[in-house]
Amino acid sequence: MKPDHLTNHRILPDGSVAFVTRPRVSVTCPCCWTDQRSYRNACYHCGRAFLYLDEQLTTRIDLQKLDKEIR
Ligand SMILES: [Zn+2]
Repeated sequence: MKPDHLTNHRILPDGSVAFVTRPRVSVTCPCCWTDQRSYRNACYHCGRAFLYLDEQLTTRIDLQKLDKEIR
């Protein structure tokens, strides 16, 4: 079974990756499949920014709202 953060993420138009929440230990980049510590806010391999939606306190975005913006 894939980790939750790999089934629940979106690639934003600017190329950054939005996850619902920050995984506890490690995060796998959905673009290059590099495993890395989850304190990172960008992939050390391909450089994509990682956004964790539950930490975006000022904007309050969720996946459904993101889907509308991406389409
Ligand atoms: Zn990557």
